[in-house]
Amino acid sequence: MKAESMPVSHFNVLINVAQLLKEPAGSSRKYDIRGIVGEQARSSIQGEVTLVRTGQGILVRGELDVKVRLVCSRCLDVFPGSISLHVEEEYLPTTDVFDGLPLALSKEFPSSTIDSNHMLDLGEVIRQYTLLNLPMKPLCRPDCTGIKEMD
Ligand SMILES: [Zn+2]
Repeated sequence: MKAESMPVSHFNVLINVAQLLKEPAGSSRKYDIRGIVGEQARSSIQGEVTLVRTGQGILVRGELDVKVRLVCSRCLDVFPGSISLHVEEEYLPTTDVFDGLPLALSKEFPSSTIDSNHMLDLGEVIRQYTLLNLPMKPLCRPDCTGIKEMD
């Protein structure tokens, strides 16, 4: 089984950025991820994210640790693992925060977006970064022989 095929859960991480969008470029906010993640995921993720107002949108930077289930590449056992992520992603608004009018986004430049209620959703970005950072050949323990021991 390839590591890529392991399901990685989607965290519900929504941040209301209406206020930050009204502030000048360079303004920032820091969040403990546990304070903004959905209750069920609180034990699977930790770290801190910083949101910085840029000229166009909001840059999210963070160092996160995510707990995942991995499949041992030798014995195929499922075991718990932990992945460290360095997240850096710019989100662009789809609605003008001052007049509520839709903003035109450039099509040749696909990006993460902030929805019309000024909610920034970190969940999908965390899922993608987790997938990118999964180990190629996870091992349940360094000396795994690939032979399952019978109880
Ligand atoms: Zn193993």
